[in-house]
Amino acid sequence: MHDLKKYIRNVTDFPRPGINFFDITPLLLDPAGFQAALEAMERFVSSKNPTKLLSIESRGFVFGAALADRLKIGLIPARKPGKLPYKTVSEEYDLEYGTDSLEIHSDAVGDGDRVVVVDDLIATGGTLRAVCRMVERLGGEVVGISVVIDLAFLPWREKLSGYDVNCLVSYDSE
Ligand code: AMP
Repeated sequence: MHDLKKYIRNVTDFPRPGINFFDITPLLLDPAGFQAALEAMERFVSSKNPTKLLSIESRGFVFGAALADRLKIGLIPARKPGKLPYKTVSEEYDLEYGTDSLEIHSDAVGDGDRVVVVDDLIATGGTLRAVCRMVERLGGEVVGISVVIDLAFLPWREKLSGYDVNCLVSYDSE
């Protein structure tokens, strides 16, 4: 397995003072690194036999779309409020200050769907938990969660307990 950490850039004080941002654009820029990440994600995702993938705006789309093409299955975009044109379901999640929400189309998931959720990074796990709830409200089952980076020093495992989460690169401290 490639050492993917060498493709992750730490940018301090972005987008606000005090935030340490994990930038995946060097990984996208390097064909060997990007392919290695996709291959590892594909191994986990295909082992779950999903019927659909769901990916989260906006960096999650990069990985979700590439994986949906590899697996030849459908892709559900989870988007910020007001971006999707048809009937939607939405879930709120907590931010450091206040709340935000995400939406998916209400006909995107149905009974019997086995969904893997794809994103670039887990921090608190609030975003992923919100999209898992939407899938479940529509009758689907979340059979796995696939991310590139996890911030292991944050308590996301409690929020996502019960889900099978696969992470490629783990950070134990900021
Ligand atoms: P959370 O809901 O706290 O798990 O936040 C996860 C979402 O926020 C993901 O979609 C990430 O892209 C983004 N995110 C949160 N913290 C960071 C960070 N330190 N660096 C890069 N992206 C982040």
